[in-house]
Amino acid sequence: MDLIVLLDTRTVAFVTGLAGFVMAATMLGLYAAGMRERALLHWAFAGLAYGLGHQGGHLMLNLATPWSVGVSLALANTLIALGHVFGLIGTQRYLGRRPWTLPLLAACALLFAVSVAWEPMHASLRMRVLVLSTFYLGVDAIAGAMLWRARAEGLTAYRRIVALVLLLEAAFLVVRLGYAAVTDTLTTSFVQDPFQILFYLLSMVFVFALALALALLMFRGKEVELQWLVMHDPLTGLFNRRSLEEHAAREIAHCRRHGVPLSAIVFDIDHFKRINDTRGHLAGDEVIRAVARRVAMELRASDIAFRLGGEEFLLLLPSTAANGAATLAERLRAGLASTPLEALGAPVTASFGVAELGPGETWNDALRRADQAMYRAKREGRDRVVVAAPAEPAPGAPVPADAPA
Ligand code: GH3
Ligand code: MG
Ligand code: MG
Repeated sequence: MDLIVLLDTRTVAFVTGLAGFVMAATMLGLYAAGMRERALLHWAFAGLAYGLGHQGGHLMLNLATPWSVGVSLALANTLIALGHVFGLIGTQRYLGRRPWTLPLLAACALLFAVSVAWEPMHASLRMRVLVLSTFYLGVDAIAGAMLWRARAEGLTAYRRIVALVLLLEAAFLVVRLGYAAVTDTLTTSFVQDPFQILFYLLSMVFVFALALALALLMFRGKEVELQWLVMHDPLTGLFNRRSLEEHAAREIAHCRRHGVPLSAIVFDIDHFKRINDTRGHLAGDEVIRAVARRVAMELRASDIAFRLGGEEFLLLLPSTAANGAATLAERLRAGLASTPLEALGAPVTASFGVAELGPGETWNDALRRADQAMYRAKREGRDRVVVAAPAEPAPGAPVPADAPA
């Protein structure tokens, strides 16, 4: 503690304010560098308010202001409260939740009013600590808990680093509250109290740690997004053609090892060009998305859906033989043809080709048979399902024991 008392409270508080500006600059820098995440702007504002609150308090209490000391304290503390509040608003935005902007801003306004009007708030640092730390603690704990509980593939650990910083800050505020409750040394602002100095030092560390943890989370988020784009189609969220080889190889190996069938359904929306031509490309996109959603809802967890391109899709159905796949295709066909799409005000139809992977057949051959069946469905009038004839056994391949003579 002796070492800490060697430090000067005012100077440490001033430097703590600088940490807020560093956080603001870091968040704005990431935004400017192309991470268009709105939460970054809220977090930048949080850092700015935090920095201004600390430094403004410092300046206003040391320079003559036309307003009273009580108003200076209220201004500075409300800015710091806004720093915590915008941390939470940014977190809610980041998580895609509806932010509590109005109630939180109303709470800050109330804090300001109470600080100005209620004598004990400017008369005693102890009272300010008791009231304000309770508020900061609540806000940080909520933000920390929300981030801790929000799991996301590849991001959970990084979210939890940020959450941990916020929760540690909240835990320290609990200690500060306890100290303020029992001590009588917290008299005026910038009192040379070792615990008060320690508070500013730790606050500074927390703000730096928060800026770093948020930056890590943003970078990690970008990486996860890019990895997702390698395998997925951004329009529908289904897997893309590029990921097909990999999925097919894995499913074929799995089905052959367990001696279960594997089928594929290929389908293409009928007369889609007309939709594009009459309703425009954007409406066309919306139709593609709606069809993908509709189809994805009908699938089992083990089925895998791909958008091959345009308005053409592929379904990979493990543990499913041709007749099961045909039943599913028929259900999908009838569902599409009978239910109007919201984007169109009318139903669309599609043509389906079904093929079961033959023993010893290559994946590309099975896919070609499914494709040919789909084109036959188109030729025969569309809005129908055609099942491909079973694969010819490869020359020299062993004939199954139950094959007809
Ligand atoms: P068919 O019944 O024979 O399938 O007729 P079709 O008009 O659907 O013909 P086809 O499948 O060959 O044409 C697909 C059209 O889809 C061609 C292209 O202009 C359009 N298209 C391809 N990709 C997209 C896309 O991502 N969005 C939109 N809106 N249109 C696309
Ligand atoms: Mg088409
Ligand atoms: Mg097509």
